[in-house]
Amino acid sequence: MNISKDSAVTLSYRITDAATGKPLDGGHVAYLHGGYDNLFPKVEAALEGLAVGQSASVDLAVEDAFGARDEALVRTIPKSEFPPGVKVGGQLQGPGPDGQPQVFHVVKIKGSEVHLDGNHPLAGRALRFDCKVTEVRPASAEEIAHRHVHGGHGHHH
Ligand SMILES: [Zn+2]
Repeated sequence: MNISKDSAVTLSYRITDAATGKPLDGGHVAYLHGGYDNLFPKVEAALEGLAVGQSASVDLAVEDAFGARDEALVRTIPKSEFPPGVKVGGQLQGPGPDGQPQVFHVVKIKGSEVHLDGNHPLAGRALRFDCKVTEVRPASAEEIAHRHVHGGHGHHH
């Protein structure tokens, strides 16, 4: 079958930095097709109508991917206020600029200061998304209600 609205699709994919060609991420992902915000809209548009074994390559400008960096999400806090056991590369949650909970990545610990960044690690980058369709099936009513795919490379809960 071909990918259409409410298809449960599994892809093998690779994300590279469009500017440098550096590989950034890859693997398998299962998603619910049809505007459920599981994938970038531009990638979904390229996958519409494809079948198992077919590939797509999509160039994503910064605004089509994770968006521009927001420097208001870069913080420095005293190490004394820092929960014990969190290291560089770890994450913690705190209030964002609008007071909503925000995930911050620990980017650096320098002296008595901890440097945090609430931006997505791939924000501010143009990306290339290469993928191959490995499975297509109709989604179940439960998957459509949950707005994501279950089992395999999808959600487990
Ligand atoms: Zn679910």
